[in-house]
Amino acid sequence: MITLCIIADTHRKHRQVTIPPCDLLIHCGDFGYFERDDRANLEDVDAWFAEAPAKQILCIGGNHDFMLQRREFRFTHAHLLEDTTFEYCGLRIFGSPWCPDLPFFAYHRTEPQLIETWSRIPSDTDILITHTPPHGILDLPYGSETHVGCPHLREELTRIRPRIHAFGHIHHSHGRHEEANTLYLNTAVVTGRDLEVTNPPVIVQVPEGQTASQPNIDCDYLGTASEKSSRSKINSHNQVCQPCR
Ligand SMILES: [Zn+2]
Repeated sequence: MITLCIIADTHRKHRQVTIPPCDLLIHCGDFGYFERDDRANLEDVDAWFAEAPAKQILCIGGNHDFMLQRREFRFTHAHLLEDTTFEYCGLRIFGSPWCPDLPFFAYHRTEPQLIETWSRIPSDTDILITHTPPHGILDLPYGSETHVGCPHLREELTRIRPRIHAFGHIHHSHGRHEEANTLYLNTAVVTGRDLEVTNPPVIVQVPEGQTASQPNIDCDYLGTASEKSSRSKINSHNQVCQPCR
């Protein structure tokens, strides 16, 4: 089995997240928070990556990761995906950092740009990593009934049909959802106004030897039990955290 450990939205709290032994560690963006000490934070994330018990580390930027977008910092111990594919044990993993609706933040794209960007995601992608959720899936901010994920990404997913789609961004909607043979995972580890680390890493096991030509990868979501206990800690102080919500 290939063990994937997937997280997002550490927002400077990465040292509070314990990574279990895994083959592939995936971070779906938002290492920083409003450009506060970005370089020092990213250097520490890189050192933390080096210590992680993972054979390979992949990541993308998020709407807070200005320095990554400007290419002013590059990880030494992780591979940054920016509309690119990384192949690992026959799994084709595509990462894209872009977000809708946040024009003053990093990795923002307009609707026409997003339509173009998502249209370039290869159809043979097994695991898709984005920062934004697709519209309507694990994309509800705290206390809101308004879905804020990207509708154009949702539309394009009917073509791509990845086995796993991992993202973060909407902290309150951490969890899993299965639909049309895709396992959707919102892997944000922080919640609430104070960005407390409340959610554990999501662990998914994928049988070895699968390739893009064998699309039916079985996935076990192993985070359920610990996720429930963590979620019970989330209290009424949990509020909308703009702009990640
Ligand atoms: Zn965030």
